[in-house]
Amino acid sequence: MKRTSLIKPVLDGVYPMISHGKGIYLYDTDGKEYLDGSSGAVTANIGHGVEEIRVAMDGQANKVSFVYRSQFTSEAAEGLATKIAEMTNGTYPWSFFVNSGSEATETALKIAVQHWQEKGKPKKNRVISRWMSYHGITLGALSMSGHPQRRERFTAMLESYPSISAPYCYRCPYNLELQECGFACAAELESAIRRTGPENVAAFIAEPVIGAAGAAISPPDGYFQELKRICEKYDVLFIADEVMTGFGRTGQILACSHWGVEPDIIAFGKGMSGGYTPIGAAVMTEKVIEPILKGSKSIMAGHTLSANPLSCAVSLAVLEYVEKNGLDKNASRSGIYLRNLLEKLSFRYPFIGNIRGKGLLIGIEFVKDIETKEPFPEEFDVTGKMISLAAENGLLLYPAAAGPEGVGGAAIIISPPLTITKREIEELIRRLNNTLYQFKEAISQ
Ligand code: PLP
Repeated sequence: MKRTSLIKPVLDGVYPMISHGKGIYLYDTDGKEYLDGSSGAVTANIGHGVEEIRVAMDGQANKVSFVYRSQFTSEAAEGLATKIAEMTNGTYPWSFFVNSGSEATETALKIAVQHWQEKGKPKKNRVISRWMSYHGITLGALSMSGHPQRRERFTAMLESYPSISAPYCYRCPYNLELQECGFACAAELESAIRRTGPENVAAFIAEPVIGAAGAAISPPDGYFQELKRICEKYDVLFIADEVMTGFGRTGQILACSHWGVEPDIIAFGKGMSGGYTPIGAAVMTEKVIEPILKGSKSIMAGHTLSANPLSCAVSLAVLEYVEKNGLDKNASRSGIYLRNLLEKLSFRYPFIGNIRGKGLLIGIEFVKDIETKEPFPEEFDVTGKMISLAAENGLLLYPAAAGPEGVGGAAIIISPPLTITKREIEELIRRLNNTLYQFKEAISQ
């Protein structure tokens, strides 16, 4: 079949063409089976080909697929907003729907800025973010992203919002042990706010567990509590980017719940629809919406396809599926099992430097020397090699950057669908073991 869709696989000319998927498996047009060990880009949280979702999609398509959000709401959009409020124990009763994670983080920022404008503080329009972060590919979202490789081409067009270090304990930016560090990286937020002037700072944005730019860096207990304390001290809203972590991935519906921290605004995407349809959301507390409802009454954001009933109905069905099947709990249980097997595997492969993450969001950082943590030379392209070897072995992994260029090692993310069973985890490990063995052979030649 002629290929003219401008996606990377086509340009590379080497990627297979997928014909269908079922559960944790995808099948290409040559009949090859792939175990989806990354849920695509940490997205297919409920697995592929789920019948209930097809039925929900069909049901909504039979009623109405599109209404314009400035003319109508829909049963599907209201049902989805209600479900999100329920799943977050009523803390986030207000949802603004968009079509992707990038739109969600950018909208979250606009809501924060509008919140302060309506309160008579229009100067509060800057956001602070961390290095080793990824909040999306649109220019506003990229401005917030501390991902040097993805910023590079567009630097001249971007704001420099990333300004503080990430809690990268494996390579502590301060070279300190956790017991003695006093969360020096979190304290950087206070300095950044004071430097910028609290009267100019609308919000601070962070991923609870750092994904693409850190390979599942999960902070130590106490870190987010400290950040939240600083935000409150300076009247800065805390935006959690739960695009990758939201709705069960880390073993809780909200990853922030691991630390008992309630963000003011949350951005969702990816697992919100499990990839069945494009949708994202910026959700907020009563405190955030209050001045907007009292003031201009409408959020100055949105897209033509925002809150389209088809996507909302599909997302609602996905979230109901997550709830009905207790997938957050399965992510927690299966995450422990998978992690244990990975730890055992690591004894055979001295280039596995660090295994980290939460629930079924697990990162592996590879190093040339396990003692010194020296990374492999960049031109060695360990991540690329690992991903293609794994694909040959019928296993899909997600590439990630572990730290600023030249600082961190190569890394991958393992994040299978939250439905994964014990037996399927063992199959994932078998394919990963083959991959690591082949890599070990290749580097010893
Ligand atoms: N935020 C996080 C944490 C992400 O991981 C991503 C995508 O990888 C985004 C935002 C952007 O989402 P999207 O690719 O759907 O625009």
